[in-house]
Amino acid sequence: MVLPIVYAGAPVLRQKARVLSTEELKSRAIAELVDRMRETMRAAPGVGLAAPQIGEPLALAVIEDRAEYQDKLAPEEIARRERQPVPFHVIANPRLTVLEAAPAVFLEGCLSVPGYAAEVPRALAVKVEALDHRGERVVIEARGWHARILQHEIDHLEGTLYIDRMDSRTFVATG
Ligand code: ZN
Repeated sequence: MVLPIVYAGAPVLRQKARVLSTEELKSRAIAELVDRMRETMRAAPGVGLAAPQIGEPLALAVIEDRAEYQDKLAPEEIARRERQPVPFHVIANPRLTVLEAAPAVFLEGCLSVPGYAAEVPRALAVKVEALDHRGERVVIEARGWHARILQHEIDHLEGTLYIDRMDSRTFVATG
C-alpha cells in the first residue's frame, strides 16, 4: 500500500523524530510500516524516504538507489556524483559522523518539496551508526551519492529540509 507523502508546511517535517526501541523495531507494526515506506519510495520514485514524510514522527528511514534509476544519467554524471546502486536498507535512530567534510555540490530534490531542486553542499563521506529493520546495530560508511542520501534522510529526522541547506540562488522548478 502506497502511503500519502506530506509536503513542506506539514508540522511533522519540522519536528525532531522520536527514537524507536529495539522492541518496536522487532514489532509487526514497524515491519509493516517499513514495507509500506518501501512501496511508497519505489512508487514515487525516490532513493530515500523518512518516516516524517509519511506523517510518522519516528527516527526511521528507508534508502534504495536502484541501477535502473541511473539509466538516464550520462556515465560522466554518474562518475562525478560517485553514484552507485545501493541495495534497499533501513536506518533507525541514526547517528551521523562526517568522515570527509569537503563538500560535494549537486542538485538535490525532495519528495516533500515536489517539482523543485537546488544545489546543496553535502559532506563527501560519512559514517552512520544505526539500527536496522531487525533492531540490529549497523555501521554504514558511505561516500558520494549514498552519503548524500544518508545526510538528506537523517536531516528529515531532525526536522531539516534541503531548502535549509541549499544555495538559494540555484533553486529551480523541475516539473
Ligand atoms: Zn526529502
